[in-house]
Amino acid sequence: MSHRRLTDRVVIATHNPGKLKEMQELLAPYGIAAVSAGELGLPEPEETGTTFSANARIKAEAAAQAAQLPAFADDSGLCVDALGGQPGIYSARWGGPDKDFQMAMDNVQALLITVDALTAEKRRAQFVSVLCIAWPDGHVEEFEGVVKGTLVWPPRGTRGFGYDPMFVPEGFTRTFGEMTSEEKHAMPPLGKGLSHRARAFRLLSAACLAADAAE
Ligand code: IMP
Repeated sequence: MSHRRLTDRVVIATHNPGKLKEMQELLAPYGIAAVSAGELGLPEPEETGTTFSANARIKAEAAAQAAQLPAFADDSGLCVDALGGQPGIYSARWGGPDKDFQMAMDNVQALLITVDALTAEKRRAQFVSVLCIAWPDGHVEEFEGVVKGTLVWPPRGTRGFGYDPMFVPEGFTRTFGEMTSEEKHAMPPLGKGLSHRARAFRLLSAACLAADAAE
Protein backbone atom coordinates (compact mmCIF):
# COMPACT_ATOMS: atom_id res chain seq x y z
CA MET A 1 0.00 0.00 0.00
CA SER A 2 1.36 3.41 -0.81
CA HIS A 3 1.29 6.10 1.84
CA ARG A 4 1.22 9.83 1.44
CA ARG A 5 4.25 11.75 2.73
CA LEU A 6 3.90 14.66 5.10
CA THR A 7 6.11 17.53 3.99
CA ASP A 8 6.61 20.96 5.51
CA ARG A 9 3.71 22.01 7.78
CA VAL A 10 1.14 20.35 9.96
CA VAL A 11 -1.53 21.38 12.43
CA ILE A 12 -1.47 19.42 15.65
CA ALA A 13 -5.13 18.89 16.40
CA THR A 14 -5.09 18.80 20.16
CA HIS A 15 -6.01 21.17 22.97
CA ASN A 16 -4.22 18.96 25.53
CA PRO A 17 -0.88 20.61 26.48
CA GLY A 18 0.68 17.29 27.60
CA LYS A 19 -0.05 15.64 24.28
CA LEU A 20 0.92 18.74 22.31
CA LYS A 21 4.38 18.75 23.90
CA GLU A 22 4.90 15.04 23.16
CA MET A 23 3.76 15.40 19.54
CA GLN A 24 5.98 18.43 18.96
CA GLU A 25 8.96 16.51 20.35
CA LEU A 26 8.19 13.57 18.08
CA LEU A 27 7.89 15.74 14.94
CA ALA A 28 10.81 18.11 15.63
CA PRO A 29 13.57 15.88 14.19
CA TYR A 30 11.77 15.74 10.84
CA GLY A 31 11.87 19.50 10.35
CA ILE A 32 8.07 19.70 10.17
CA ALA A 33 6.71 23.04 11.39
CA ALA A 34 3.92 22.21 13.81
CA VAL A 35 1.29 24.73 14.84
CA SER A 36 -1.39 23.71 17.32
CA ALA A 37 -5.16 23.87 16.87
CA GLY A 38 -5.24 26.00 20.03
CA GLU A 39 -2.80 28.58 18.58
CA LEU A 40 -4.92 28.82 15.41
CA GLY A 41 -8.05 29.31 17.51
CA LEU A 42 -9.72 26.25 15.95
CA PRO A 43 -12.76 24.91 17.78
CA GLU A 44 -12.45 21.57 19.59
CA PRO A 45 -14.79 19.12 17.82
CA GLU A 46 -17.00 16.87 19.88
CA GLU A 47 -15.57 13.35 20.10
CA THR A 48 -18.69 11.45 19.10
CA GLY A 49 -16.95 8.28 17.85
CA THR A 50 -17.11 4.94 19.65
CA THR A 51 -13.50 3.92 18.90
CA PHE A 52 -10.07 5.56 19.25
CA SER A 53 -9.79 5.45 15.48
CA ALA A 54 -13.10 7.27 14.86
CA ASN A 55 -12.26 10.00 17.37
CA ALA A 56 -8.73 10.54 15.99
CA ARG A 57 -10.25 10.92 12.54
CA ILE A 58 -12.90 13.41 13.73
CA LYS A 59 -10.20 15.63 15.27
CA ALA A 60 -7.77 15.41 12.33
CA GLU A 61 -10.43 15.96 9.67
CA ALA A 62 -11.99 18.93 11.50
CA ALA A 63 -8.60 20.66 11.86
CA ALA A 64 -7.56 19.89 8.27
CA GLN A 65 -10.77 21.43 6.93
CA ALA A 66 -10.65 24.46 9.23
CA ALA A 67 -6.94 25.23 8.63
CA GLN A 68 -6.68 23.92 5.04
CA LEU A 69 -3.45 22.20 6.05
CA PRO A 70 -2.60 18.58 6.83
CA ALA A 71 -3.60 17.91 10.44
CA PHE A 72 -2.22 15.41 12.90
CA ALA A 73 -4.41 14.05 15.72
CA ASP A 74 -4.16 11.42 18.37
CA ASP A 75 -6.87 9.69 20.28
CA SER A 76 -5.69 7.68 23.17
CA GLY A 77 -6.60 6.26 26.50
CA LEU A 78 -6.14 3.67 29.16
CA CYS A 79 -7.95 0.32 28.80
CA VAL A 80 -8.12 -1.75 31.99
CA ASP A 81 -8.70 -5.49 31.43
CA ALA A 82 -10.57 -6.12 34.72
CA LEU A 83 -12.89 -3.20 33.95
CA GLY A 84 -13.88 -4.46 30.50
CA GLY A 85 -11.58 -1.96 28.79
CA GLN A 86 -12.74 1.11 30.76
CA PRO A 87 -12.07 4.02 30.82
CA GLY A 88 -10.97 3.51 27.17
CA ILE A 89 -12.20 6.28 24.86
CA TYR A 90 -13.63 8.02 27.95
CA SER A 91 -10.20 8.34 29.64
CA ALA A 92 -10.10 12.14 29.31
CA ARG A 93 -13.74 12.49 30.41
CA TRP A 94 -13.07 10.54 33.63
CA GLY A 95 -10.96 13.54 34.66
CA GLY A 96 -14.12 15.69 34.66
CA PRO A 97 -14.29 19.35 33.62
CA ASP A 98 -11.28 20.18 35.80
CA LYS A 99 -9.20 17.43 34.16
CA ASP A 100 -8.57 16.02 37.60
CA PHE A 101 -6.61 12.82 36.99
CA GLN A 102 -5.99 12.16 40.66
CA MET A 103 -9.77 11.78 40.87
CA ALA A 104 -9.82 9.64 37.70
CA MET A 105 -7.09 7.38 39.13
CA ASP A 106 -9.00 7.16 42.44
CA ASN A 107 -12.06 6.01 40.46
CA VAL A 108 -10.06 3.37 38.59
CA GLN A 109 -8.66 2.10 41.88
CA ALA A 110 -12.10 2.10 43.56
CA LEU A 111 -13.53 0.05 40.67
CA LEU A 112 -10.58 -2.35 40.76
CA ILE A 113 -11.30 -2.95 44.46
CA THR A 114 -14.96 -3.70 43.68
CA VAL A 115 -13.89 -6.46 41.25
CA ASP A 116 -11.26 -7.71 43.71
CA ALA A 117 -8.39 -6.83 41.35
CA LEU A 118 -5.63 -6.45 43.90
CA THR A 119 -2.78 -8.53 42.46
CA ALA A 120 -0.58 -7.41 39.54
CA GLU A 121 -1.98 -10.32 37.52
CA LYS A 122 -5.52 -8.93 37.85
CA ARG A 123 -4.47 -5.33 37.22
CA ARG A 124 -3.39 -5.60 33.60
CA ALA A 125 -4.00 -2.56 31.44
CA GLN A 126 -2.85 -1.01 28.21
CA PHE A 127 -2.46 2.45 26.83
CA VAL A 128 -3.67 2.73 23.23
CA SER A 129 -2.94 5.52 20.79
CA VAL A 130 -4.31 6.00 17.30
CA LEU A 131 -2.53 8.65 15.26
CA CYS A 132 -4.27 10.07 12.25
CA ILE A 133 -3.13 12.52 9.58
CA ALA A 134 -5.89 14.06 7.48
CA TRP A 135 -5.33 16.24 4.43
CA PRO A 136 -7.74 18.97 3.26
CA ASP A 137 -8.53 16.89 0.12
CA GLY A 138 -9.91 14.06 2.28
CA HIS A 139 -6.90 11.68 2.25
CA VAL A 140 -6.33 10.02 5.65
CA GLU A 141 -3.50 7.93 7.12
CA GLU A 142 -3.92 6.09 10.44
CA PHE A 143 -1.59 4.14 12.78
CA GLU A 144 -2.15 2.37 16.15
CA GLY A 145 0.30 1.78 19.00
CA VAL A 146 -0.21 -0.13 22.25
CA VAL A 147 1.86 -0.46 25.43
CA LYS A 148 0.89 -3.16 27.92
CA GLY A 149 1.46 -2.90 31.64
CA THR A 150 -0.02 -3.14 35.13
CA LEU A 151 -1.64 -0.62 37.44
CA VAL A 152 -0.06 0.09 40.83
CA TRP A 153 -1.48 1.80 43.91
CA PRO A 154 -0.76 4.35 45.27
CA PRO A 155 0.25 6.35 42.18
CA ARG A 156 3.98 7.12 41.94
CA GLY A 157 5.86 9.97 40.28
CA THR A 158 5.03 13.49 39.22
CA ARG A 159 6.11 13.42 35.58
CA GLY A 160 3.96 12.88 32.51
CA PHE A 161 0.21 13.43 32.66
CA GLY A 162 -3.13 11.66 32.98
CA TYR A 163 -2.87 8.13 34.34
CA ASP A 164 0.96 7.96 34.08
CA PRO A 165 1.58 7.68 37.85
CA MET A 166 -0.34 4.39 38.17
CA PHE A 167 0.94 2.65 35.01
CA VAL A 168 4.03 0.42 35.02
CA PRO A 169 4.92 -0.70 31.48
CA GLU A 170 5.73 -4.38 30.96
CA GLY A 171 9.40 -5.14 31.63
CA PHE A 172 9.87 -2.13 33.95
CA THR A 173 9.41 -1.46 37.68
CA ARG A 174 8.86 2.30 37.53
CA THR A 175 5.64 4.03 36.50
CA PHE A 176 5.42 6.36 33.50
CA GLY A 177 5.06 9.09 36.12
CA GLU A 178 8.55 8.28 37.39
CA MET A 179 10.16 8.24 33.93
CA THR A 180 11.64 11.17 32.04
CA SER A 181 9.88 12.11 28.82
CA GLU A 182 12.90 10.68 26.93
CA GLU A 183 12.46 7.30 28.62
CA LYS A 184 8.73 7.34 27.95
CA HIS A 185 8.68 8.23 24.31
CA ALA A 186 12.08 9.05 22.77
CA MET A 187 12.88 7.12 19.62
CA PRO A 188 15.97 4.97 19.13
CA PRO A 189 18.88 5.62 19.41
CA LEU A 190 18.01 8.05 22.26
CA GLY A 191 15.22 5.95 23.76
CA LYS A 192 13.21 2.79 23.19
CA GLY A 193 10.07 4.35 21.71
CA LEU A 194 8.22 2.82 24.66
CA SER A 195 4.91 4.64 24.91
CA HIS A 196 1.81 3.79 22.89
CA ARG A 197 2.08 7.16 21.14
CA ALA A 198 5.75 6.56 20.31
CA ARG A 199 4.91 3.12 18.93
CA ALA A 200 2.16 4.52 16.72
CA PHE A 201 4.51 7.31 15.70
CA ARG A 202 7.19 4.85 14.59
CA LEU A 203 4.72 3.30 12.17
CA LEU A 204 3.63 6.75 11.01
CA SER A 205 7.18 8.01 10.51
CA ALA A 206 8.14 4.94 8.47
CA ALA A 207 5.11 5.48 6.24
CA CYS A 208 4.69 9.26 6.03
CA LEU A 209 7.89 11.08 7.06
CA ALA A 210 11.11 11.52 5.13
CA ALA A 211 13.43 8.65 6.11
CA ASP A 212 16.61 10.72 6.13
CA ALA A 213 15.26 13.88 7.81
CA ALA A 214 15.61 12.66 11.42
CA GLU A 215 19.24 11.54 11.08
P1 IMP B 1 -7.94 12.18 24.30
O1 IMP B 1 -7.11 11.32 23.40
O2 IMP B 1 -7.64 13.62 24.16
O3 IMP B 1 -9.37 11.83 24.22
O4 IMP B 1 -7.49 11.90 25.79
C1 IMP B 1 -6.88 10.73 26.20
C2 IMP B 1 -6.78 10.68 27.71
O5 IMP B 1 -6.21 9.40 28.00
C3 IMP B 1 -5.85 11.71 28.32
O6 IMP B 1 -6.51 12.84 28.78
C4 IMP B 1 -5.24 10.93 29.48
O7 IMP B 1 -6.07 10.98 30.57
C5 IMP B 1 -5.22 9.51 28.97
N1 IMP B 1 -3.91 9.24 28.35
C6 IMP B 1 -3.62 9.11 27.04
N2 IMP B 1 -2.29 8.93 26.84
C7 IMP B 1 -1.75 8.96 28.06
C8 IMP B 1 -0.41 8.85 28.52
O8 IMP B 1 0.58 8.72 27.77
N3 IMP B 1 -0.25 8.92 29.85
C9 IMP B 1 -1.27 9.09 30.73
N4 IMP B 1 -2.52 9.22 30.35
C10 IMP B 1 -2.77 9.15 29.03
